[in-house]
Amino acid sequence: MLHPLTIDTALPPDTCHPEYDPTVAAVGLCPWCGAEHTLATGLARAECRSLMQELERNGRIDLAVTEEYADPRLSLDYLHGVARGQMFGVLVCRTQQGTYGTLRAFSAQYNRIWHVDGWVPPLLDIAAFDTVVAKDDPDINRMGREIRALDERIAACPSPAPGEDGPAAALQEERARLTETRRLRSRQSMHDIHALYRVRNFKGDSASLFDIFPAGRGIPTGTGDCCAPKLLQYAALHHLTPLGLAEFYWGRESRSGARRHGQFYPSCQEKCYPILGHMLCGMPHP
Ligand SMILES: [Zn+2]
Ligand SMILES: [Zn+2]
Repeated sequence: MLHPLTIDTALPPDTCHPEYDPTVAAVGLCPWCGAEHTLATGLARAECRSLMQELERNGRIDLAVTEEYADPRLSLDYLHGVARGQMFGVLVCRTQQGTYGTLRAFSAQYNRIWHVDGWVPPLLDIAAFDTVVAKDDPDINRMGREIRALDERIAACPSPAPGEDGPAAALQEERARLTETRRLRSRQSMHDIHALYRVRNFKGDSASLFDIFPAGRGIPTGTGDCCAPKLLQYAALHHLTPLGLAEFYWGRESRSGARRHGQFYPSCQEKCYPILGHMLCGMPHP
């Protein structure tokens, strides 16, 4: 899982390296000690640039296999289509033996695939996630289709005479009832998915998303799926010391225009600020 460094390996990639960048790449508010914990960029941007070149050269993310075994779903074309781009990240690490290397992550799933060789796994149990999705998604999708069918029937109704409810009123009522049922079912499903995440820190403590997010505050969709938490989780579980982190966007510009191809971004505020506080707590000093 640990990839060899691509930068000049004559010098260790730690704080003593002349090109070590102290800019904060990841920051979180710790739910336990109330402090803000941070992780610097270090030499991770240089390692990201090597990864970008490798991606461009291969045109796919399954870099661990030769061309003949390449999975077409893992082609980079996916990032330039309707799905648009996504985030990638690199964590430079030191092993307990004093050697160095990098971990790589893509955010969330890549084209509905959680696990790709050479990339760190997600924070949840993939089989348990599949079970929740298989249980809930068919019903949620069916209700979505029924709502759309009702919309068509409502649109086709003749406009009522003045003072009359019209035949659409009953359909409107049915639609409202169905929409509410679907909303509650989706919320329950999301709750069951959030319950699958186990977030580990460098003190060896595991927390759930419900422990980390203040009671009563909703947990944003996709929390725990960004590159920073995936990379830190793997490092914490495998006793690797993080020395630097960088995350970049790759692919078609995000709809809002907030993310652009090849640009670096610090850890996000909405999802990662709470979770990284827990994850970075007790991290050994680089
Ligand atoms: Zn994030
Ligand atoms: Zn702390």
